[in-house]
Amino acid sequence: MNQPIIVLNCGSSSIKFAIIDATNGDATLSGLAENLGNHDARIKYKSGGNKYEADLPENADHKSALGVIQSIIKERNCSPVAVGHRVVHGGEAFTRSVLITDEVKQAIEDTAHMAPLHNPANLAGIECAQEAFPELPQIAVFDTAFFQSLPQKAFIYAIPYKLYKQHGIRRYGFHGSSHLFVSQRAANLVSKSITQCNMITAHLGNGCSITAIKNGRAIDTSLGFTPLEGLVMGTRCGDIDPSLPAVLINQCGYTAEEVDTLLNKQSGLLGISQLSNDCRTLEEQAINGNKHAQLALDVFCYRLAKYIGSYMAITGKLDAIVFTGGIGENSDYIRANVLSYFEHLGIKVSEEENRKARFGEIGNINTLPLPVYVIPTNEEWVIAKDALKLAK
Ligand code: ADP
Repeated sequence: MNQPIIVLNCGSSSIKFAIIDATNGDATLSGLAENLGNHDARIKYKSGGNKYEADLPENADHKSALGVIQSIIKERNCSPVAVGHRVVHGGEAFTRSVLITDEVKQAIEDTAHMAPLHNPANLAGIECAQEAFPELPQIAVFDTAFFQSLPQKAFIYAIPYKLYKQHGIRRYGFHGSSHLFVSQRAANLVSKSITQCNMITAHLGNGCSITAIKNGRAIDTSLGFTPLEGLVMGTRCGDIDPSLPAVLINQCGYTAEEVDTLLNKQSGLLGISQLSNDCRTLEEQAINGNKHAQLALDVFCYRLAKYIGSYMAITGKLDAIVFTGGIGENSDYIRANVLSYFEHLGIKVSEEENRKARFGEIGNINTLPLPVYVIPTNEEWVIAKDALKLAK
Protein backbone atom coordinates (compact mmCIF):
# COMPACT_ATOMS: atom_id res chain seq x y z
CA MET A 1 0.00 0.00 0.00
CA ASN A 2 1.29 3.47 -0.89
CA GLN A 3 2.31 5.68 2.05
CA PRO A 4 2.70 9.17 0.55
CA ILE A 5 4.64 11.62 2.69
CA ILE A 6 5.09 15.32 1.98
CA VAL A 7 8.80 16.09 2.37
CA LEU A 8 9.79 19.74 2.83
CA ASN A 9 13.22 21.34 2.92
CA CYS A 10 12.80 25.04 3.62
CA GLY A 11 15.82 27.27 2.98
CA SER A 12 16.09 31.01 3.53
CA SER A 13 14.74 31.83 0.06
CA SER A 14 13.59 28.46 -1.24
CA ILE A 15 11.39 25.46 -0.48
CA LYS A 16 12.22 22.05 -1.91
CA PHE A 17 9.13 19.86 -1.80
CA ALA A 18 8.26 16.32 -2.77
CA ILE A 19 5.72 13.59 -2.25
CA ILE A 20 7.64 10.43 -1.49
CA ASP A 21 6.16 6.97 -1.14
CA ALA A 22 7.75 5.87 2.15
CA THR A 23 7.47 2.21 1.15
CA ASN A 24 9.83 2.43 -1.85
CA GLY A 25 11.28 5.97 -2.02
CA ASP A 26 9.55 6.84 -5.31
CA ALA A 27 8.79 10.55 -5.81
CA THR A 28 5.37 11.12 -7.36
CA LEU A 29 5.96 14.87 -7.21
CA SER A 30 9.08 16.96 -6.70
CA GLY A 31 9.64 20.65 -7.03
CA LEU A 32 11.33 23.83 -5.95
CA ALA A 33 9.96 27.24 -4.99
CA GLU A 34 12.86 29.64 -5.36
CA ASN A 35 13.82 33.31 -5.05
CA LEU A 36 11.22 33.73 -2.28
CA GLY A 37 11.04 37.32 -1.10
CA ASN A 38 12.28 38.55 -4.52
CA HIS A 39 10.45 39.95 -7.52
CA ASP A 40 11.19 36.80 -9.55
CA ALA A 41 9.88 34.24 -7.03
CA ARG A 42 8.77 31.15 -8.95
CA ILE A 43 7.87 27.53 -8.51
CA LYS A 44 8.82 24.59 -10.74
CA TYR A 45 7.84 20.98 -10.31
CA LYS A 46 7.83 17.56 -11.92
CA SER A 47 5.07 14.99 -11.74
CA GLY A 48 4.30 11.89 -13.81
CA GLY A 49 7.26 12.61 -16.12
CA ASN A 50 5.96 16.13 -16.94
CA LYS A 51 7.49 19.46 -15.97
CA TYR A 52 5.38 22.42 -14.79
CA GLU A 53 5.86 26.00 -13.68
CA ALA A 54 3.41 27.87 -11.48
CA ASP A 55 3.25 31.58 -10.86
CA LEU A 56 3.98 32.98 -7.45
CA PRO A 57 2.91 36.48 -6.44
CA GLU A 58 5.74 39.04 -6.61
CA ASN A 59 7.88 38.88 -3.41
CA ALA A 60 6.05 35.70 -2.36
CA ASP A 61 7.14 34.52 1.08
CA HIS A 62 7.25 30.99 2.52
CA LYS A 63 3.61 31.20 3.55
CA SER A 64 2.23 32.11 0.14
CA ALA A 65 4.58 29.62 -1.59
CA LEU A 66 3.33 26.86 0.73
CA GLY A 67 -0.25 27.87 -0.12
CA VAL A 68 0.53 27.20 -3.81
CA ILE A 69 2.38 23.97 -2.95
CA GLN A 70 -0.66 22.91 -0.91
CA SER A 71 -2.95 23.30 -3.95
CA ILE A 72 -0.47 21.47 -6.22
CA ILE A 73 -0.47 18.58 -3.72
CA LYS A 74 -4.27 18.62 -3.29
CA GLU A 75 -4.74 18.44 -7.10
CA ARG A 76 -2.88 15.13 -7.03
CA ASN A 77 -5.41 13.49 -4.71
CA CYS A 78 -2.68 11.40 -3.14
CA SER A 79 -3.87 11.50 0.51
CA PRO A 80 -0.55 12.21 2.25
CA VAL A 81 -0.22 10.71 5.73
CA ALA A 82 2.38 13.08 7.23
CA VAL A 83 4.74 15.96 6.55
CA GLY A 84 8.48 15.36 7.06
CA HIS A 85 10.72 18.42 7.51
CA ARG A 86 14.46 18.50 6.99
CA VAL A 87 15.87 20.52 9.88
CA VAL A 88 19.55 21.34 9.58
CA HIS A 89 20.63 21.75 13.19
CA GLY A 90 19.32 19.73 16.11
CA GLY A 91 22.21 20.62 18.44
CA GLU A 92 22.60 18.09 21.23
CA ALA A 93 18.87 18.06 21.91
CA PHE A 94 17.94 15.63 19.13
CA THR A 95 19.53 12.24 18.55
CA ARG A 96 16.71 11.08 16.30
CA SER A 97 13.68 12.34 14.36
CA VAL A 98 10.72 13.60 16.40
CA LEU A 99 7.05 14.45 16.11
CA ILE A 100 6.88 18.25 16.16
CA THR A 101 5.38 19.80 19.29
CA ASP A 102 5.63 23.32 20.71
CA GLU A 103 8.62 22.16 22.80
CA VAL A 104 10.36 20.82 19.69
CA LYS A 105 9.79 24.13 17.88
CA GLN A 106 11.24 25.96 20.88
CA ALA A 107 14.33 23.70 20.85
CA ILE A 108 14.83 24.35 17.10
CA GLU A 109 14.59 28.07 17.80
CA ASP A 110 17.05 27.75 20.70
CA THR A 111 19.57 26.16 18.30
CA ALA A 112 19.14 28.87 15.64
CA HIS A 113 22.33 30.74 16.63
CA MET A 114 24.32 27.70 15.43
CA ALA A 115 22.62 27.62 12.01
CA PRO A 116 21.41 31.19 11.47
CA LEU A 117 20.76 30.71 7.75
CA HIS A 118 18.93 27.42 8.12
CA ASN A 119 17.06 26.83 11.38
CA PRO A 120 14.88 29.99 11.25
CA ALA A 121 13.88 29.07 7.68
CA ASN A 122 13.19 25.47 8.72
CA LEU A 123 11.02 26.75 11.57
CA ALA A 124 9.14 29.16 9.33
CA GLY A 125 8.48 26.22 7.00
CA ILE A 126 7.17 24.10 9.87
CA GLU A 127 4.79 26.84 11.01
CA CYS A 128 3.48 27.46 7.49
CA ALA A 129 3.06 23.71 6.90
CA GLN A 130 1.15 23.33 10.17
CA GLU A 131 -1.28 25.95 8.87
CA ALA A 132 -1.44 24.51 5.36
CA PHE A 133 -1.84 20.87 6.48
CA PRO A 134 -3.40 21.10 9.97
CA GLU A 135 -4.77 17.55 9.76
CA LEU A 136 -1.34 15.94 9.23
CA PRO A 137 1.32 15.01 11.80
CA GLN A 138 4.53 16.98 11.23
CA ILE A 139 7.90 15.35 11.83
CA ALA A 140 11.35 16.93 12.10
CA VAL A 141 14.35 15.00 10.72
CA PHE A 142 17.68 16.51 11.74
CA ASP A 143 20.84 16.64 9.62
CA THR A 144 22.92 16.42 12.78
CA ALA A 145 21.11 13.54 14.53
CA PHE A 146 23.14 10.71 12.94
CA PHE A 147 26.30 12.20 14.47
CA GLN A 148 25.12 12.34 18.06
CA SER A 149 26.86 8.95 18.46
CA LEU A 150 30.28 10.61 18.02
CA PRO A 151 32.48 10.05 21.10
CA GLN A 152 33.71 13.16 22.93
CA LYS A 153 37.25 12.65 21.63
CA ALA A 154 35.88 13.11 18.09
CA PHE A 155 33.61 16.09 18.74
CA ILE A 156 35.60 18.20 21.20
CA TYR A 157 37.86 20.87 19.67
CA ALA A 158 41.21 21.51 21.37
CA ILE A 159 40.16 24.95 22.59
CA PRO A 160 39.08 25.90 26.13
CA TYR A 161 36.49 23.35 27.24
CA LYS A 162 34.27 26.06 28.71
CA LEU A 163 33.43 27.19 25.14
CA TYR A 164 31.75 23.84 24.64
CA LYS A 165 29.87 24.15 27.91
CA GLN A 166 28.91 27.81 27.52
CA HIS A 167 28.33 28.10 23.78
CA GLY A 168 27.91 24.53 22.52
CA ILE A 169 31.04 24.85 20.36
CA ARG A 170 31.86 21.31 19.20
CA ARG A 171 31.69 19.20 16.07
CA TYR A 172 28.08 18.44 15.07
CA GLY A 173 28.36 17.08 11.51
CA PHE A 174 25.82 17.49 8.70
CA HIS A 175 24.42 15.43 5.77
CA GLY A 176 23.36 12.81 8.35
CA SER A 177 20.39 11.49 6.35
CA SER A 178 22.61 10.83 3.34
CA HIS A 179 25.34 9.00 5.29
CA LEU A 180 22.64 6.98 7.08
CA PHE A 181 20.91 6.05 3.81
CA VAL A 182 23.99 4.91 1.90
CA SER A 183 25.45 3.04 4.87
CA GLN A 184 22.21 1.06 5.21
CA ARG A 185 22.24 0.29 1.47
CA ALA A 186 25.88 -0.82 1.68
CA ALA A 187 25.07 -3.08 4.66
CA ASN A 188 22.39 -4.75 2.51
CA LEU A 189 24.88 -5.17 -0.32
CA VAL A 190 27.42 -6.93 1.93
CA SER A 191 24.55 -8.98 3.48
CA LYS A 192 25.31 -7.94 7.06
CA SER A 193 23.36 -6.18 9.75
CA ILE A 194 24.29 -2.48 9.83
CA THR A 195 25.29 -2.94 13.48
CA GLN A 196 28.08 -5.26 12.34
CA CYS A 197 29.43 -2.97 9.62
CA ASN A 198 32.46 -0.69 9.59
CA MET A 199 32.40 1.80 6.71
CA ILE A 200 33.62 5.07 5.32
CA THR A 201 30.95 7.04 3.46
CA ALA A 202 31.83 10.07 1.31
CA HIS A 203 29.02 12.47 0.34
CA LEU A 204 30.45 14.65 -2.44
CA GLY A 205 28.07 17.28 -3.77
CA ASN A 206 28.33 21.06 -3.66
CA GLY A 207 28.84 20.46 0.06
CA CYS A 208 31.13 17.53 0.85
CA SER A 209 31.54 15.39 3.94
CA ILE A 210 33.00 12.06 4.94
CA THR A 211 31.95 9.87 7.84
CA ALA A 212 33.62 7.01 9.69
CA ILE A 213 31.11 4.39 10.82
CA LYS A 214 31.88 1.61 13.29
CA ASN A 215 29.30 -1.06 14.08
CA GLY A 216 26.71 1.02 12.24
CA ARG A 217 27.26 4.18 14.30
CA ALA A 218 29.01 7.36 13.20
CA ILE A 219 32.30 7.73 15.12
CA ASP A 220 33.72 10.72 13.25
CA THR A 221 32.77 13.09 10.45
CA SER A 222 34.45 15.93 8.61
CA LEU A 223 31.90 18.78 8.87
CA GLY A 224 32.18 20.54 12.19
CA PHE A 225 30.45 23.23 14.22
CA THR A 226 29.31 24.60 10.85
CA PRO A 227 29.32 23.00 7.40
CA LEU A 228 32.69 24.63 6.54
CA GLU A 229 35.23 22.22 7.99
CA GLY A 230 36.88 19.21 6.39
CA LEU A 231 36.95 18.39 2.70
CA VAL A 232 37.38 20.84 -0.17
CA MET A 233 33.87 21.72 -1.43
CA GLY A 234 32.38 23.60 -4.38
CA THR A 235 32.87 27.06 -2.84
CA ARG A 236 33.81 26.21 0.78
CA CYS A 237 37.44 25.88 1.86
CA GLY A 238 37.23 22.98 4.33
CA ASP A 239 40.29 22.64 6.60
CA ILE A 240 42.66 25.60 6.71
CA ASP A 241 45.12 26.96 9.26
CA PRO A 242 42.77 28.33 11.98
CA SER A 243 44.84 31.51 12.24
CA LEU A 244 44.05 32.55 8.65
CA PRO A 245 40.86 34.50 9.49
CA ALA A 246 42.88 36.67 11.94
CA VAL A 247 45.62 37.15 9.32
CA LEU A 248 43.05 38.15 6.70
CA ILE A 249 41.46 40.64 9.12
CA ASN A 250 44.60 42.08 10.75
CA GLN A 251 47.00 42.06 7.80
CA CYS A 252 44.93 41.98 4.62
CA GLY A 253 42.14 44.41 5.53
CA TYR A 254 39.15 42.07 5.36
CA THR A 255 36.19 42.46 7.71
CA ALA A 256 34.95 39.42 9.64
CA GLU A 257 31.93 39.29 7.38
CA GLU A 258 34.09 39.38 4.25
CA VAL A 259 36.21 36.53 5.62
CA ASP A 260 33.05 34.53 6.19
CA THR A 261 31.95 35.13 2.60
CA LEU A 262 35.44 34.37 1.26
CA LEU A 263 35.67 31.02 3.04
CA ASN A 264 32.08 29.94 2.37
CA LYS A 265 31.36 31.30 -1.10
CA GLN A 266 34.62 32.10 -2.90
CA SER A 267 36.89 29.22 -1.90
CA GLY A 268 37.00 25.47 -2.55
CA LEU A 269 37.04 24.30 -6.18
CA LEU A 270 35.95 27.78 -7.30
CA GLY A 271 38.63 29.57 -5.32
CA ILE A 272 41.54 27.40 -6.48
CA SER A 273 40.45 27.13 -10.12
CA GLN A 274 39.30 30.77 -10.40
CA LEU A 275 36.92 29.29 -12.92
CA SER A 276 34.00 27.29 -11.54
CA ASN A 277 32.66 25.31 -8.62
CA ASP A 278 31.23 22.75 -11.03
CA CYS A 279 33.26 19.57 -11.10
CA ARG A 280 32.17 18.79 -14.69
CA THR A 281 33.51 22.12 -15.98
CA LEU A 282 36.79 21.60 -14.14
CA GLU A 283 37.22 18.10 -15.55
CA GLU A 284 36.63 19.41 -19.09
CA GLN A 285 38.99 22.34 -18.60
CA ALA A 286 41.69 20.15 -17.03
CA ILE A 287 41.59 17.89 -20.09
CA ASN A 288 42.08 21.03 -22.21
CA GLY A 289 45.21 21.82 -20.22
CA ASN A 290 43.89 24.41 -17.74
CA LYS A 291 46.39 24.15 -14.87
CA HIS A 292 44.19 25.86 -12.26
CA ALA A 293 41.33 23.46 -12.99
CA GLN A 294 43.73 20.52 -12.62
CA LEU A 295 45.14 21.92 -9.38
CA ALA A 296 41.64 22.34 -7.90
CA LEU A 297 40.80 18.71 -8.72
CA ASP A 298 44.14 17.51 -7.35
CA VAL A 299 43.69 19.36 -4.03
CA PHE A 300 40.11 18.04 -3.79
CA CYS A 301 41.23 14.41 -4.28
CA TYR A 302 44.34 14.68 -2.12
CA ARG A 303 42.36 16.06 0.85
CA LEU A 304 39.73 13.36 0.43
CA ALA A 305 42.38 10.63 0.25
CA LYS A 306 43.95 11.92 3.48
CA TYR A 307 40.56 11.76 5.23
CA ILE A 308 39.87 8.24 3.96
CA GLY A 309 43.30 7.16 5.18
CA SER A 310 42.78 8.67 8.63
CA TYR A 311 39.33 7.11 8.93
CA MET A 312 40.76 3.71 7.95
CA ALA A 313 42.87 4.04 11.08
CA ILE A 314 39.88 4.46 13.40
CA THR A 315 37.15 2.22 11.94
CA GLY A 316 38.96 -1.12 12.24
CA LYS A 317 38.54 -3.64 9.43
CA LEU A 318 36.32 -2.09 6.79
CA ASP A 319 33.29 -3.72 5.21
CA ALA A 320 32.88 -1.04 2.53
CA ILE A 321 33.75 2.44 1.29
CA VAL A 322 30.88 4.35 -0.30
CA PHE A 323 30.78 7.29 -2.71
CA THR A 324 27.59 9.33 -3.08
CA GLY A 325 26.32 12.87 -3.93
CA GLY A 326 26.50 14.57 -7.35
CA ILE A 327 30.29 14.17 -7.67
CA GLY A 328 30.56 10.84 -5.82
CA GLU A 329 27.83 9.27 -7.94
CA ASN A 330 28.86 10.68 -11.30
CA SER A 331 32.56 11.47 -11.50
CA ASP A 332 34.58 8.39 -12.42
CA TYR A 333 37.58 10.73 -12.70
CA ILE A 334 37.40 11.87 -9.05
CA ARG A 335 36.82 8.32 -7.77
CA ALA A 336 39.77 6.93 -9.74
CA ASN A 337 42.03 9.79 -8.68
CA VAL A 338 41.18 9.46 -4.95
CA LEU A 339 41.39 5.69 -4.91
CA SER A 340 44.74 5.65 -6.71
CA TYR A 341 46.25 6.57 -3.32
CA PHE A 342 45.13 3.23 -1.87
CA GLU A 343 46.71 0.59 -4.10
CA HIS A 344 48.97 -0.45 -1.19
CA LEU A 345 45.89 -0.74 1.06
CA GLY A 346 43.76 -3.13 -0.97
CA ILE A 347 42.02 -0.94 -3.54
CA LYS A 348 42.57 -1.25 -7.28
CA VAL A 349 39.83 0.40 -9.29
CA SER A 350 38.22 -1.46 -12.20
CA GLU A 351 38.22 1.07 -15.04
CA GLU A 352 35.19 -0.55 -16.59
CA GLU A 353 33.10 -0.80 -13.41
CA ASN A 354 34.09 2.74 -12.47
CA ARG A 355 32.94 4.07 -15.85
CA LYS A 356 29.67 2.13 -15.63
CA ALA A 357 28.85 3.15 -12.04
CA ARG A 358 27.13 6.43 -12.70
CA PHE A 359 23.77 8.02 -13.34
CA GLY A 360 21.81 6.16 -10.71
CA GLU A 361 23.41 2.72 -10.94
CA ILE A 362 24.81 1.01 -7.85
CA GLY A 363 28.21 -0.55 -8.49
CA ASN A 364 31.29 -2.01 -6.78
CA ILE A 365 34.31 -0.46 -8.46
CA ASN A 366 37.11 -2.31 -6.63
CA THR A 367 38.76 -5.34 -8.21
CA LEU A 368 40.08 -6.46 -4.79
CA PRO A 369 37.99 -7.89 -1.89
CA LEU A 370 37.06 -4.63 -0.07
CA PRO A 371 33.83 -3.38 -1.72
CA VAL A 372 33.97 0.26 -2.89
CA TYR A 373 30.39 1.15 -3.78
CA VAL A 374 28.87 3.99 -5.74
CA ILE A 375 25.38 4.43 -4.26
CA PRO A 376 22.92 7.18 -5.25
CA THR A 377 21.70 8.91 -2.12
CA ASN A 378 18.04 9.49 -1.27
CA GLU A 379 17.76 11.81 1.73
CA GLU A 380 14.06 12.42 1.04
CA TRP A 381 13.34 8.72 1.51
CA VAL A 382 15.04 8.75 4.92
CA ILE A 383 12.82 11.70 5.89
CA ALA A 384 9.70 9.98 4.51
CA LYS A 385 10.43 6.69 6.34
CA ASP A 386 11.01 8.45 9.67
CA ALA A 387 7.88 10.56 9.17
CA LEU A 388 5.79 7.45 8.52
CA LYS A 389 7.21 5.66 11.56
CA LEU A 390 6.45 8.61 13.87
CA ALA A 391 3.04 9.36 12.36
CA LYS A 392 1.68 5.93 13.25
P1 ADP B 1 24.04 19.53 -3.70
O1 ADP B 1 25.07 19.42 -2.62
O2 ADP B 1 23.71 20.95 -4.04
O3 ADP B 1 22.84 18.63 -3.51
P2 ADP B 1 24.77 17.69 -5.81
O4 ADP B 1 24.81 16.48 -4.93
O5 ADP B 1 23.72 17.76 -6.85
O6 ADP B 1 24.81 19.03 -5.00
O7 ADP B 1 26.21 17.76 -6.54
C1 ADP B 1 26.58 18.83 -7.35
C2 ADP B 1 27.98 18.54 -7.89
O8 ADP B 1 27.94 17.33 -8.66
C3 ADP B 1 28.51 19.63 -8.83
O9 ADP B 1 29.86 19.95 -8.49
C4 ADP B 1 28.50 18.96 -10.18
O10 ADP B 1 29.54 19.41 -10.98
C5 ADP B 1 28.75 17.51 -9.80
N1 ADP B 1 28.36 16.60 -10.90
C6 ADP B 1 27.11 16.31 -11.34
N2 ADP B 1 27.20 15.48 -12.41
C7 ADP B 1 28.53 15.25 -12.64
C8 ADP B 1 29.28 14.48 -13.60
N3 ADP B 1 28.67 13.78 -14.55
N4 ADP B 1 30.61 14.49 -13.49
C9 ADP B 1 31.25 15.21 -12.56
N5 ADP B 1 30.61 15.93 -11.62
C10 ADP B 1 29.26 15.97 -11.66
